[in-house]
Amino acid sequence: MGITKRVTLIISVILFLNLLSIFVPQAIVGKTVNASNASYIYAPNLEITNPPIDADGEIELTSAVAEYIRSVFANYRGYYDEIRKDVDQDAIAGRYTSNAFAVQQMHDYATVFSKGHAADGYFGHPVKHHYLRDHYDNPMIDNSLLPYTGGGEHHFVVIWHCDTATPYPGEYCSTCGSYTGLPYSYTRTNTMSTNGYTSPDSSGYAFVGFQGYSPQFLDPTGYGNNNYANFVSYLYYCLIQYDMSLNSALREASLYTLGTYDFASTWLYQLKIGYNPFNLMPRDTRIRILGDGYLEVA
Ligand SMILES: [Zn+2]
Repeated sequence: MGITKRVTLIISVILFLNLLSIFVPQAIVGKTVNASNASYIYAPNLEITNPPIDADGEIELTSAVAEYIRSVFANYRGYYDEIRKDVDQDAIAGRYTSNAFAVQQMHDYATVFSKGHAADGYFGHPVKHHYLRDHYDNPMIDNSLLPYTGGGEHHFVVIWHCDTATPYPGEYCSTCGSYTGLPYSYTRTNTMSTNGYTSPDSSGYAFVGFQGYSPQFLDPTGYGNNNYANFVSYLYYCLIQYDMSLNSALREASLYTLGTYDFASTWLYQLKIGYNPFNLMPRDTRIRILGDGYLEVA
C-alpha cells in the first residue's frame, strides 16, 4: 500500500469515527436518526386591512416569529440538511409545492410551519378544497401537494391559518381520487387521532391547525402581556431547544403564555361557538391537535 493510499485510508477511518461519535449519542437518547431532515417555515404576509384583519404590526410580528423558529432549528438542529424560511414575496404557492418536491427527492423527515390567511373553494371539484392564501393572494390548494407527499415524510406540521384542520378526516374527492384538507395532503394519513392532545395515537405524525379562525399573533392571550406570537414561540422553544414532546411543549407554552398548565382548559383549546373577532362571519373556533401528542421533533 502506497503512502497516499494509507493516508487516505486513515483519513476515512477518522471521518468514520467522527461520524459515529456524532450519531451514537443520538441513538442512546432514543432519537430517530433519519438520513436527511428538513424544516420549512413560511410567512406569506398577505396583509388584509379592509376589513381590518391584520392590525398594524401583525406582518412584522409574523416575520419575527418565523425568524425565531428558523433560528431555533439552526441552533439546535444543526444536523438538518435543509432549514428554509420563505417570507413575503418568497412565500408563494409554488414554493410550498417545490419544497414538498425537495422533500420527496432528498429528505425523509420534514417539518412545516406556516402562518397567514386561508379559505376554501370547489375549483370545479365535487367537494370543497382548502387553500392557503399566498403573498400575492394566489391559492396554495391542498391537492397541489399530493404529487409530492406520497412518501409520508411530513411528520410535524403546524399551519396557523384559518380552518386548516377541517374537515378531518378529509372528504373523498372523486376528481382528485384522494382526500381533501391539509392534514391529509401533508401527512397522507386520514386516520390520525382527531384529538391528539388527550388521545395521542403514537403514529409519529402530528398536525396542528384550526377549526374556524386562527387567532392573530397580536391578539392578547389574556394572561400577562402575552399574545399568540408568544405562545407559538414558546411552543418551538420547548419542542426544539428542549426536545419536549408536542403535548409537553403545549403544556409549557400554555403555562407561560396562557396562565395554566392545563392546556385543555384554555381559551385556545376550548371550542368557542360563533366566534367573530373581525365582524365577518361567526365561526365555531378552536385549535386542533391531530395525531400524536407524544411526538418529539426529530
Ligand atoms: Zn379534488
